[in-house]
Amino acid sequence: TWADLCGPRQVLLAEPRSFCAGVERAIDIVQLALQRFPRPVYVRRQIVHNAHVVRDLERHGAVFVDELDQVPDGTTVVFSAHGVAPAVRDEAARRGLNVIDATCPLVAKVHNEARRFAARGDTVFLIGHDGHDETEGTLGEVPGKISLVQNPGEAEQVQAADPERVALLMQTTLAVDDAADTVAVLRRRFPAIESSPTDDICYATTNRQQAVRAVATDSDVVLVLGSANSSNSLRLVEVAQRCGAEAHLVDDATEILPAWLAGARTVGVTAGASAPPHLVDEVIGTLRALGPVEVTERVVTREDVTFTLPKTVIDPKGVVG
Ligand code: SF4
Repeated sequence: TWADLCGPRQVLLAEPRSFCAGVERAIDIVQLALQRFPRPVYVRRQIVHNAHVVRDLERHGAVFVDELDQVPDGTTVVFSAHGVAPAVRDEAARRGLNVIDATCPLVAKVHNEARRFAARGDTVFLIGHDGHDETEGTLGEVPGKISLVQNPGEAEQVQAADPERVALLMQTTLAVDDAADTVAVLRRRFPAIESSPTDDICYATTNRQQAVRAVATDSDVVLVLGSANSSNSLRLVEVAQRCGAEAHLVDDATEILPAWLAGARTVGVTAGASAPPHLVDEVIGTLRALGPVEVTERVVTREDVTFTLPKTVIDPKGVVG
């Protein structure tokens, strides 16, 4: 009823939420490339997995393509935050394209590890989701020496040429607890398995999952801002649901269904690492239109990570733009 839908509400805002350092850097790179190089500037794949970010950059002159064969000779192409396989780099070099790499440094780190493990003869297992841009890039680093493991069931099946020489990598945006189950199976089957010295699941993924947990336990419903192809946003929905909350992924406030809010007095709100902060403000605005709202932020940690921009988009005097 209307009375259920309206009325005073508590909003619990998860912090950290929204943009991570890798996403901010990737968006900055496209914006700077649009200022420095003739348009259009092409971007291979979605620069980050968010419909609003992509639409906004398209309005400024970026053209998003799936593959390099859609990029004309002599133009500029940006590689997305999710990274690319060496075969893509090689093709771009062969074609003489002006390449600007927006691969997140934390994804590049996983690529480096893949090469290091494979070079010393290890069989590499990559825990990740099939068909995701990031796993495609990492698998492409060392074809034939790396296999994708999606879940504990697959971890029971995979084989290694030498069980003493096995290494483990992960997609940066996995659910921390899901990945732990798959790791446990691999460690049982291959006790000698080696992993990266630092976590592959990145700080932003880990922090956002902890933060959504802190709001989900006290929320009737949790709204997660993010696009349906955003791995880290989807994981936030799952983590909230595992805490017992009803949780929904929305691209923006217009996708919120009234039925979700009926009777919901406490609403948790967060955003995936690729979702712009203004979308969160708009959700709160929508809730305010239904009655008084008291907003409380639940802070699990403060982030201070930043990444430097590639020299190709910074002018020689060191002045950005
Ligand atoms: Fe980089 Fe993590 Fe952000 Fe992905 S989610 S862009 S790995 S910081």
